[in-house]
Amino acid sequence: MYRWWKKDIPEVKVKKAKSILHNFSTAELNENGLAINPYVGCQHRCLYCYATYEWVPDFYDEIYAKFNADKVLINELPIYGSKIPVLIGSATDSYQPVELRFRLTRKVIEILQRYGVPYYIFTKSTAVLRDLDLHKRYKDKCYIVWSLTTIDENVKRKIEPFAASAEKIFDAMKRMREADIICGLNVDPIMPGINDDKNMISMLIKKAKQANCSFISSGVLRLRDDIWERIKRFLISEKRESLIRTYEHLYFKEGKKIGYYYFPNERYSKDIIGFIEEECMKNGIPYGLPFIDIEIRSCYMESQRKLIEYA
Ligand code: SF4
Repeated sequence: MYRWWKKDIPEVKVKKAKSILHNFSTAELNENGLAINPYVGCQHRCLYCYATYEWVPDFYDEIYAKFNADKVLINELPIYGSKIPVLIGSATDSYQPVELRFRLTRKVIEILQRYGVPYYIFTKSTAVLRDLDLHKRYKDKCYIVWSLTTIDENVKRKIEPFAASAEKIFDAMKRMREADIICGLNVDPIMPGINDDKNMISMLIKKAKQANCSFISSGVLRLRDDIWERIKRFLISEKRESLIRTYEHLYFKEGKKIGYYYFPNERYSKDIIGFIEEECMKNGIPYGLPFIDIEIRSCYMESQRKLIEYA
């Protein structure tokens, strides 16, 4: 079996951060804002990870904990003010296992709360439950998103081998929702021929409904040269070479390139994303991330209103 990491267990090191609040923007996705990443590297080791840039060559094998993250944040917050929502975990999973030891994510959240800054978290972990009380007391100004690519555990174990199972994620979501914390799912990335089975997606959305999911967003896999290299080697080791030709066709022949990323044929993207949107509507789940604004909860209410209009 092909492994895209080198060490059986990632090595954990500490490092001193010079800055912690970063501007992030993805022109192709029309998103921008502020982000905090208390760690460099990620123990979840997802095959398709977008954060494996060339300047972090040991992304899957060496985890750096920015031990002074909270102190740096206190110094930087006055520069940006408290009105811009902060994404926690744009280039790492802030609730990966190492967080249970260092508690850096918790510390930065406590500071954001103290300064009244809205935040939202993307994770594939259930360790976020440790901080349920913390998020609960701030529930009007934060939301949590679990990235969940599939409920097929055979596929999941292959493409994101150390992330939480779908079942555990749904259990965590239920508990967070019982505490009235806004929680969504990001079904992303959809990978052609790997996790794009519509029946499976349909079941995932039904389970999300049962877990009282607040909203669902989704996205189709983008390819970068290094990501494609990993996926290609993975497909060869899975003896699915014919899928390589499908990807070449969808992405390199019929798709388009924006910046470093290849996007697939638009017809494919529209079909699968349209399907997810439709399934969300059928199940009464708002589709799309809440608008990023200072009052996250009022934006969430707005997306619910749109759903009622749709019905
Ligand atoms: S959880 Fe996110 S940051 Fe971590 S390996 Fe997976 S995709 Fe990358």
